[in-house]
Amino acid sequence: MEGVLRVDAVRRVGIAGSRPSPGRGGVGVPPRLVVGPAEVELGSRVVRMRGGDPLHGTKARGAVPARERRAELCLDRVVAAEDLRGPGGLVALVEELLGLGECPRLGVAAKAEFELQERGAGARVRDGARDGRPLTARLQNRDADDGAGRHERGEPDDEQDPPVPGRCERTGLGRHRPSVATKRLATFPKAMPSYRELLQQVKSEIDEVGVTRARDLLAGDDRPLVIDVRELDEWTEGRIPGAIHIPRGNLESRIEQAAPDHAQPILLYCAAGNRSAFAAKSLEELGYESVTSLAGGYTDWKRSGLPTELPRTLDGEKRQRYSRHVLIPEVGEEGQLKLLDSRVLLLGAGGLGSPSALYLAAAGVGRLGIVDDDRVDASNLQRQVLHSTSRLGEWKAESAKRTLEELNPDIDVVPYIERLTSENVERILADGWDVIVDGADNFPTRYLINDAAVWHDIPLVHGSIYRFEGQATVFKPGAGPCYRCLFPQPPPPELAPSCAEGGVLGVLPGIVGSLQASEALKLCLGIGEPLVGRLLLFDALATEFSEVNLRRDPNCPVCGDSPTITEYVDYVEFCSGRPTHA
Ligand SMILES: [Zn+2]
Repeated sequence: MEGVLRVDAVRRVGIAGSRPSPGRGGVGVPPRLVVGPAEVELGSRVVRMRGGDPLHGTKARGAVPARERRAELCLDRVVAAEDLRGPGGLVALVEELLGLGECPRLGVAAKAEFELQERGAGARVRDGARDGRPLTARLQNRDADDGAGRHERGEPDDEQDPPVPGRCERTGLGRHRPSVATKRLATFPKAMPSYRELLQQVKSEIDEVGVTRARDLLAGDDRPLVIDVRELDEWTEGRIPGAIHIPRGNLESRIEQAAPDHAQPILLYCAAGNRSAFAAKSLEELGYESVTSLAGGYTDWKRSGLPTELPRTLDGEKRQRYSRHVLIPEVGEEGQLKLLDSRVLLLGAGGLGSPSALYLAAAGVGRLGIVDDDRVDASNLQRQVLHSTSRLGEWKAESAKRTLEELNPDIDVVPYIERLTSENVERILADGWDVIVDGADNFPTRYLINDAAVWHDIPLVHGSIYRFEGQATVFKPGAGPCYRCLFPQPPPPELAPSCAEGGVLGVLPGIVGSLQASEALKLCLGIGEPLVGRLLLFDALATEFSEVNLRRDPNCPVCGDSPTITEYVDYVEFCSGRPTHA
């Protein structure tokens, strides 16, 4: 017997309540018995903690006759024998002094259900439990009982061993079978509201609109944010055009991101209007002021012949490749699709262009243009990680294309084996780019692309490096300064440093180029705070980042109020290597 007990001592029974989610099971749904890590162990003390009646509150308890009361929301907490000093221990001690000690129980939260049965059976509260056998043996027996289907709800276990005072007993209650709180604890329940009652109550408290009204709202000026709260498989089979998808289970955690303004009107829908009703209630509780639920849901919408659309989704392979993006709420599947649709032009496949291009390609930016008229040289390989020894002498743009497409076959790399000039800049920009990453190493290109970006209204991610120092910023037309706001004209060629001075720590472009890639991704996704109007400075020797605020110059010759430069200027080329605004 001792042997068995020892085995029992390590056998654990886990009880986990399913989270009462109003949208799913309704309040007060008994949790299911789950297989998992143990929460209750033989010999542990269980402390009862009263959560109060969520619907009536605890105050009313004394005033209501016992038989009329609702089931109490009781939670049991296990207190280990060695942990009796804390607050739980104190409670346990008090309960023990009052003679309220209980044994570990199964299916504690199925109490309401159990109590109903008790009530039906004449509110039998047993004095003393009878089953003194080890928990394991009882569990085994329970399985056997289930198989035989012998026990009706509320019936005592007639076949059990004789009662042992002070122990708990079990009663047959399907899979759960909570043991009865014995001794002086007796509760007299009243039925919890059914799902239907709860739904009716919730629906009476929220605003609902029919499909016709919803259609008018969507066509109106103050178009609400439409949120589909169904599950992914339902969403993929069709949606209301323009809707965003936040499954009911994630609504509370993601709504701030989707609708930061609590005054924004929101229209929620699900398949039939029930989940969205609960969702609307939740959003109101979170402080959203104008929430409506679509009565009849997507089913009614579709049946009424209103427009629907099939959302694009990632196929299985892409879902796997970009799973770490899909997992981020700010990116998700939609963000990844956005990246796959994005087009980024990189100036230069050198030190800065290499890490930028690698990360943008890996992230799934659908189209990458690479402008570079140089060939791979041995002195490049110290930092230009797109290339390799075997590529010496190849065009950098071609070498980059090979490396990037090998990394990610989903993307399209467009090489431009030419130097950006006033002659070709319009042609290259005509291919359509959402963001430009400037990894150029010379002044003429810097000024040319700046002017082009302003005139084409394309955000330009700027980066520069020199020895141990790097800089990065974002020139976003209309939102901050441009390069010429800071440096209206390039320095005269005689003041430019010679090429021999332009040394750089090999890893430095890796850091600055990665920052540029990060900014470009944020711009493509439309998330976060890009480095607009902020110049980020990095000192690799000190390992220090600092930031300088930049302001748009109203007298800027290109983006100022009365621009003086209105067409491309080809500056005399001179040696590069020094940062252009160090
Ligand atoms: Zn400017």
